[in-house]
Amino acid sequence: MTMDANLGETPAGVASNRPPRLLVDVGDSPQRVVVLGSTGSVGRGAIDVVEHDAGARLKLWGLSAHSRWRELAAQAGQHRPRFAVASDPIHAPRIAELLKGTGVHVLSGEDGVIQMVQDPETDRVCTAIVGAAGLRGTWAAIEAGKLIALANKETLVMAGPLVMDLARARGAPIIPVDSEHSAIFQALKAGNRGEVKRVILTSSGGPFRGRSRAELTNVTTEHALNHPTWRMGPKITIDSATLMNKALEVIEARWLFDLEPDQIEVVVHPESIVHSMVEFVDGSMVAQLSPPDMRLPIAYALSYPERRPGVGQGLDLSRALALRFEPPDRETFPALDLGFEVMRVGGTAGAVLNAANEAAVARFLKGEIRFLDIARACRAVVDQHTFDPRPTLDGLIAIDAWARRELERWNM
Ligand code: MG
Repeated sequence: MTMDANLGETPAGVASNRPPRLLVDVGDSPQRVVVLGSTGSVGRGAIDVVEHDAGARLKLWGLSAHSRWRELAAQAGQHRPRFAVASDPIHAPRIAELLKGTGVHVLSGEDGVIQMVQDPETDRVCTAIVGAAGLRGTWAAIEAGKLIALANKETLVMAGPLVMDLARARGAPIIPVDSEHSAIFQALKAGNRGEVKRVILTSSGGPFRGRSRAELTNVTTEHALNHPTWRMGPKITIDSATLMNKALEVIEARWLFDLEPDQIEVVVHPESIVHSMVEFVDGSMVAQLSPPDMRLPIAYALSYPERRPGVGQGLDLSRALALRFEPPDRETFPALDLGFEVMRVGGTAGAVLNAANEAAVARFLKGEIRFLDIARACRAVVDQHTFDPRPTLDGLIAIDAWARRELERWNM
């Protein structure tokens, strides 16, 4: 379904004679960037990065949002991308009305998202949609061979092997935006693949680091939504409090970097300055350090393979800075071990864990289940599911729906 905000105008550049794109195109023309989920924290960060990019080497080409249509219309009105997509079609007419005369093409629904990401002029797609909803758009962008700035970790948690196979087949580079994976991606450049001993993901430990299970029995949503170092949306903030976020990141790392299960570890680092590390076979460890600002890994992915000055600020070392590392408390935060188990078995387990967790977090935020129930309920649904070691994409989408229903029915 297409709704043109400016009916008299032909889309500029569409069907032009641009030369075929290189694997990672760093030619003279600006890279056209589409942001899926532009009203979320990562999406807004991506717009900020494009706006402040030195030399204007990045250009906003498309934006999408689901429920915050007013904000989407405001972003599109300000930045004048080629496309604005209301992924929930109900909002498209009002967005089109607000953007009348701007030249922005308003599209709607999943078809609109696919049209935008597969547009011949689109170079890079930042996938900043939270949860399983981000899979389709990411998949379509990979199919078209676009560079993916991957901020939607759920895509790899659900369908890692399928997504990475498709990316290899279509020559679509996947550059992680998740700060830990961006750090690993950067650190891996210090050696050859055969020289990697292990990767160590850092975790802030979340707002409940140092607490016991007994102390977490009556945690409120308010407590859980107050993260010590990162400012993020509600779903990922709860995931950080349960350490489910780290569990999902362990799974993400396995598929993204094609690692063996034994090569992945987690360490708690409360300052969130060291974003992750790679240890090589000679015992050397290479880390990436920066302040906890999501815009740095976003900028790295959007400008890759270049590095340019932009919004990011480096660390201030003129003042004393202490960095701590400690092992995670696996007893208080059982989501972490659940994530490691799911990472080891692969197949359908990642999709089930991801869907169960999304449904559990939603129930916790509504006050239907308690904080400690999130990991417990996810464990129950993962254990119950009919495991398939080599699922298809349709199979994964079906089991995702099943896991959500099971979690809805779960009782303490
Ligand atoms: Mg992360």
